[in-house]
Amino acid sequence: MKPYAELSKEELQELKTALEAQFEEEKAKGLSLDMSRGKPSADQLDLSMGMMDVLGSDSQLVCSEGVDCRNYGVLDGIAEAKQLLSDMMEVPKENIVIFGNSSLNIMFDTVARSMTHGVMGSTPWARLDAVKFLCPVPGYDRHFTITEYFGIEMIPVPMTTEGPDMDMVEDLVQADPAIKGIWCVPKYSNPQGITYSDETVRRFARLKPAAEDFRIYWDNAYGIHHLYEDKQDTLLEILEECKQAGNPDLVYKFSSTSKISFPGSGIAAVASSDGNLADIRRQMQCQTIGHDKLNQLRHARFFKDIHGMTAHMKKHADILRPKFDAVLETLEKELGGLGIGSWIAPRGGYFISFDSLDGCAKAIVSKAKEAGLIMTGAGATFPYGKDPCDKNIRIAPSYPTAGELKAAAQVFVLSVKLASVEKLLA
Ligand code: PLP
Repeated sequence: MKPYAELSKEELQELKTALEAQFEEEKAKGLSLDMSRGKPSADQLDLSMGMMDVLGSDSQLVCSEGVDCRNYGVLDGIAEAKQLLSDMMEVPKENIVIFGNSSLNIMFDTVARSMTHGVMGSTPWARLDAVKFLCPVPGYDRHFTITEYFGIEMIPVPMTTEGPDMDMVEDLVQADPAIKGIWCVPKYSNPQGITYSDETVRRFARLKPAAEDFRIYWDNAYGIHHLYEDKQDTLLEILEECKQAGNPDLVYKFSSTSKISFPGSGIAAVASSDGNLADIRRQMQCQTIGHDKLNQLRHARFFKDIHGMTAHMKKHADILRPKFDAVLETLEKELGGLGIGSWIAPRGGYFISFDSLDGCAKAIVSKAKEAGLIMTGAGATFPYGKDPCDKNIRIAPSYPTAGELKAAAQVFVLSVKLASVEKLLA
């Protein structure tokens, strides 16, 4: 098949008729499929069921500090959990604070605290006329929702294959003291699966922001979420790079075990400099007497150490890999060479990002829905839900079964073809 752009009007018209017939056949199947949710499948959750048994009514529930985990005490995480998460996040355990069940919650609290109390003694953002954040795009919609909620102006920065466009990031943060932060998913990014290059990480660490309270929100949600044994991305450790660059306070690093153990019932943590952690602890001691230590203990006893966690992640990969491969194979087989879409084959994370012809994403998502397939809403990967080119679609292959996924991928490529032909004929 020739690229669609090379087809004559008559050929396109003929193709449209054939695709419409195929589409009607798909619709008649009455499918009910969902590729919108970046959630682990039930098989993946089963991998962690042993965690339900590591604490029983006859268990010893005292942590290594000698505190009874059934009771109050230990504000920022038991030592066992700190050790596990500091190894997972590649930071010293002195630089980590364990929170509750969600890293997104820590990110929200971090922005909220900066609004009301400022960052390490600077003016609270709520008292400023303008507060802005840089948002690499496409990106994670829930990051954008947090900044939108607080009325923070979001400035999109395009992603490259090496991470955000660093020329633009450097220019903007140096020029504008109202820019107070940037959202980053540095490894297996949501949604493109891109890992920032060493040069990108070093340029981040060497940033010279006009605002003393500018911070990098480094959301390393997919740090150990590889898909392949033999092809794995590596990411430079940002806290250490910042320290070496003389910018120790520049970054907050977030992570959680949401897609390692149980989403919503995992443990989350933030790592940062002593100065930033002092701000965090000051707030935390007013906010809670302590987070769920039994859950921390359960995680520490189940995984034992980082090696246990790494072995566990291989089991996740064994379930996820065939699903990603199935979607990628269908994209390649059905759309390869047609010039109506592009995508990156990720080496980890939870998503495949698809770029259609300009102006087609909304139509594709709506056609897919008509044929019984729910996709993430077009535009969701951009601030304010507005994709200026209307071309990015996030594909989440983790949740459906292999059979559902095959059917879903077929509906998706058909929707892409039909929307593209309609666009070219318009
Ligand atoms: N950060 C990113 C980039 C994510 O993709 C997700 C979930 O999809 C989260 C954070 C949510 O993490 P948590 O469950 O720790 O709040």
